[in-house]
Amino acid sequence: MGRSKKELSRLASGIFIRFFHTALTVGIFCVLIFNDTELRNALTGKNIIYGVAFICLLLATSVLYFIASLMNPGYVILDVEMNGWSQVDSSDEETAEESEGDGNDERQKMVKDKKAKDKSQRKCSYCNIKQPARTKHCEDCGRCVRRFDHHCPWLENCVGERNHRFFWLFLLCQAAIIIWAIRITWGGFYWHPTIQDWLRANALYLICMLVLSLGAAAVISLLCCHTFMLFTNQTTWEFMSRHRITYLRNLDESVNPFDEGYCRNGLKFFCYCPYRSWDVMLVKYSDLKNAS
Ligand SMILES: [Zn+2]
Ligand SMILES: [Zn+2]
Repeated sequence: MGRSKKELSRLASGIFIRFFHTALTVGIFCVLIFNDTELRNALTGKNIIYGVAFICLLLATSVLYFIASLMNPGYVILDVEMNGWSQVDSSDEETAEESEGDGNDERQKMVKDKKAKDKSQRKCSYCNIKQPARTKHCEDCGRCVRRFDHHCPWLENCVGERNHRFFWLFLLCQAAIIIWAIRITWGGFYWHPTIQDWLRANALYLICMLVLSLGAAAVISLLCCHTFMLFTNQTTWEFMSRHRITYLRNLDESVNPFDEGYCRNGLKFFCYCPYRSWDVMLVKYSDLKNAS
């Protein structure tokens, strides 16, 4: 009963924030085209390419917002439904323990690998699963999310392994459209000799400028942070809470076991579609560390 209430309230807040985002976007667009601005002049025939380019960027930003906001960010429970591999299975653990002493090298290695993997895995008591590496339970979504970054209240969705690239592209387009809109708004101000007349004539532009400036500050700083994260293969959660994360807290501050270099990190962030085996990377990293 409590859970469904929470789901309903999340649904309502999701509808509200998406409506609010759309209303804000449409509102500012209306101010810019129903007043004497560069955009309106462009769309009325003076520079149609300029006007169409602005509208295309605005539409792309909105589409990316809805993709990032509505798509599954990488809930672990879906994997459990499909494969059942990550569900807590005590008999599996017992088998591994029992088989340790039978003298078979290969099996011993498997047990060792499993133990190394188990060491890096955290258990989610809400979902009753062993979490793959880089997974975290989100209390807002009520689910475990792969390569969890953060729960974004503006999307009312988690940013995780599946939608992080769309979130970054959304930030990029949003930053570009906001800077463009600031430039158009700035050019639209009417000049009057008295301050009262000036305020009266420019009230809408002033409101737009305030909203756009706040948006620009938030979006550009987020874009810078996430660009750094994507090229170093880190998540916001790992960056902020490293000392509390099982698989990272014992490593040196400068070490990131998932880092494969700027180019590969960037390429895989945008192009690699299936879920990635972060556990395997962790085991490989600890093997390399033990060998050296
Ligand atoms: Zn969970
Ligand atoms: Zn969430």
